[in-house]
Amino acid sequence: MEHEPLLQMALRVEQDIFVVRQRGREVAAAVGLERQDQVRIATALSEVARDLLRGVGGADVVFAVTAAPDGRQHLRVDLVPVSPLPDRRYEPQSGAVARLVDTLSVVAAAGDTVVRMSRRIPVTAQALTPQRVEQLRAQLGQSVPGTVEEELATQNSQLIAALDEVRSQRDELARLNEELEQTNRGVLALYHQLTDELEETNRGVVALYAELDEKSVQLRSASESKSRFLANVSHELRAPVTAIIGLARLLTDAASDPLTLEQERQVGLIRSSAADLLSLVNELLDLAKAESGRLEPNWAEVDLRAVFGQLRGTLRALHTVPEVTLVVEEPSSPATIRTDEMLLAQVLRNLLHNGLKFTTRGEVRLRAERSGDSWKLVVTDTGSGIPAEFHERIFEEFYQVPGPSRVGGTGLGLPYARRLATLLGGTLELSSEPGRGSTFTVSLPANGT
Ligand code: ADP
Repeated sequence: MEHEPLLQMALRVEQDIFVVRQRGREVAAAVGLERQDQVRIATALSEVARDLLRGVGGADVVFAVTAAPDGRQHLRVDLVPVSPLPDRRYEPQSGAVARLVDTLSVVAAAGDTVVRMSRRIPVTAQALTPQRVEQLRAQLGQSVPGTVEEELATQNSQLIAALDEVRSQRDELARLNEELEQTNRGVLALYHQLTDELEETNRGVVALYAELDEKSVQLRSASESKSRFLANVSHELRAPVTAIIGLARLLTDAASDPLTLEQERQVGLIRSSAADLLSLVNELLDLAKAESGRLEPNWAEVDLRAVFGQLRGTLRALHTVPEVTLVVEEPSSPATIRTDEMLLAQVLRNLLHNGLKFTTRGEVRLRAERSGDSWKLVVTDTGSGIPAEFHERIFEEFYQVPGPSRVGGTGLGLPYARRLATLLGGTLELSSEPGRGSTFTVSLPANGT
């Protein structure tokens, strides 16, 4: 939207430059530009006016209010040169003039080449309705321009105000700088504090690791001492126990003096107790040997069918409960595995033995299953089963599931079996539920380790 011009004036002589400047400021104030913007547009105007007066001999100056496409209002000043601009171009001596206003350019308007500048009117200014513009036009038409001296005095006071403004801005800048420096010092102090804390934490972590290392060395040496102790004690115990068994056998020998029935019963008790003690001592020795790492598997191609056949034979003698069937399935051929035959047989015998011990009816079964590069040797029973909370504990030395199902033993069989399975490059796992029996699975690589 464009209104009628607010004010028009002619620029023809030097003195008019002052008048253009003065009127420019007056119009800017009337439409509501801020104080500094009034000075800016007045300064830009007097610069352009001087150029045009000297370059083409003068211009007609037209002030108007226009609306931009975004709806914001602008104060627009057109300077229509009295004779054409050379090359229809106009360039103020420096970009400084252009920076004083929002736009400064040469446009073609109504057949003329016009130098046009504009400045946005702030939204806080009083609304410029057509009535208000009309009012302003009347007001500006009546006002009489001041003298050159008055204009100079105004310019001086504006200069002083501008200098004041610059000084207060410089003071403000110095204050901000000071604040910034203080903040920097604070940030730096915080940074140092954090760095110190971090270093301290690091030192703590390092110390903690050193302690952990030390503890694990201690643990390893404690475990080694334990194995050594077990091995030594068992070894020392074996000789006297064997002697007791031998002597007891001598006592009941037909060549010895006859014993009373009661003496014979007691010697029998001595023999069976000593035999139990010997098997405990032997188990302890086996375990200590496996733990110490001194047990070297004797690797060879082994036929699982032969191993299974042997187990079938030896365990048949053990298994005396008629309600329990022992089934050793025939592995499908080829059933070869690279392993230590004796150690593998020991593991399976142990598991089958346990199965028979903890099963009162149903069956205990051993089968072999080939899956990919490994063999699974599975011992299942229909016995008492093991509650989940004991699934790992029964692999600890001397651990036995508490409760009525306890039927003697040492608690060393499973830890030993697992040791051996690991030594053979495999694993020993359990799945079981109370009342539903147990399944122990030995998984071994078919080609050894
Ligand atoms: P032992 O059989 O000499 O007690 P093991 O280490 O072989 O020692 O077994 C530890 C415990 O695990 C046994 O005392 C028993 O409580 C439990 N257990 C082992 N095998 C079975 C099984 N097949 N069924 C039920 N419980 C079992």
